[in-house]
Amino acid sequence: MSEAFQAIRGMADVLPADSGTWQLLEATLRDIAEAYGYRELRIPVVERTELFKRSIGEVTDIVEKEMYTFEDRNGASLTLRPEATAGIVRAGISHGLLHNQRQKVWFTGPMFRYERPQKGRYRQFHQFDVEALGFDGPDVDAEMILMTARLWRQLGIDAVTLELNSLGTAESRQDYRHVLVEYFAGHESALDEDSRQRLHRNPMRILDSKNPEMQPVVAGAPVLTEFLDAESAEHFAQLREILDDAGIGYRLNPRLVRGLDYYCRTVFEWVTDRLGAQGTVCAGGRYDGLVEQLGGRPTPAIGWALGLERLLELYRVCGGADARQAPDLYLVAAGPGTLAPAFRLAEQLREERPQIKVEINLGGGSFKVQMKRADKSGARFALLLGEDELAAGTIGLKPLRESGEQRTVPWAELITTLDPLLPARD
Ligand code: ATP
Ligand code: MG
Repeated sequence: MSEAFQAIRGMADVLPADSGTWQLLEATLRDIAEAYGYRELRIPVVERTELFKRSIGEVTDIVEKEMYTFEDRNGASLTLRPEATAGIVRAGISHGLLHNQRQKVWFTGPMFRYERPQKGRYRQFHQFDVEALGFDGPDVDAEMILMTARLWRQLGIDAVTLELNSLGTAESRQDYRHVLVEYFAGHESALDEDSRQRLHRNPMRILDSKNPEMQPVVAGAPVLTEFLDAESAEHFAQLREILDDAGIGYRLNPRLVRGLDYYCRTVFEWVTDRLGAQGTVCAGGRYDGLVEQLGGRPTPAIGWALGLERLLELYRVCGGADARQAPDLYLVAAGPGTLAPAFRLAEQLREERPQIKVEINLGGGSFKVQMKRADKSGARFALLLGEDELAAGTIGLKPLRESGEQRTVPWAELITTLDPLLPARD
């Protein structure tokens, strides 16, 4: 195929065979968020480049090398969103949603990052995002984590571990920063190129390095926990008390710093060893300074984002069943004059039982050909309408997946016959 008609590297199509499972995961996430009182806030795919630079931070992987940035016809620099928090905060400020109000919102959609594509890492990927703006916690910090823990339980995912840390306030981090720069400067020969560049501009990001050769020097670095200010330490202790009471296990990881600049206090990641190198499924943290930094009033906030591609993979690895996409009924209509009545019957069924999936045979064909299609569709039952049935005002009901004889049912009794066979789904 000509290159022009190939998908862009790192950007995938979701085919019909998989889209049912995508929908199942999306619906599960949405229902959990809604059940906790979060409402959907939709943001555009594109924002001003400046927004991401100001929020995510200039010295981060995303801003330095991962953004899809372009000029529009007017010369404005725009960027495809690499994450949702910046857009959500921008929307909150510009609509005045944060003036003497608190907001609990969720969002889902594609994100774009120019990364090296590999398993679990794509250039267009999908996130489910939850944000609480105007809450200083630690109660809401716990709620964020409890929501995600519920998700794992609901999806039958048991192979995840919670990693937890507190970054303290931006001020308390300054002291730590000095000590950290001193330490890394003393080990400069062990630093890779990226880290050397970050040494004075953003030393904490060195702790987030993915380079295996950097791990020994990172492991020896002083830990932030010792520099935590008293209020942050108390905040963190209260969060852990709620988690302990709720029976949520976690691993304290003093080296968890998260890739973005805006985090403070609580940060967490749900990680798994079942997905190879890309083991972080869900990550979040508190960002008390961001709203003000973007021109709003001081507003404490916290949020998390989950990668849907990684969730899908993990769900399957943990034995999650793919969503059933087959119709309940496949309507076969063979013989002169049967087509229009078949449509009438199918529409009547859809009207009275919208939850039943009725597929009608399209494109005619002999009885045998249509039965083959019915079987291939995966339908549980075939409905058979021939000349004889039409004349008698009946229809044949034939099980396709389970044993049992074909029955003949009067049209008027079809719904009551089907009801116990096809119990209402939720
Ligand atoms: P990583 O360290 O893996 O690059 P990150 O810290 O850049 O992750 P976040 O910005 O916190 O990731 O995004 C939250 C979640 O979104 C991640 O935990 C992951 O599940 C998912 N995610 C991030 N980048 C990608 C990507 N390129 N492809 C697929 N999923 C991704
Ligand atoms: Mg990344």
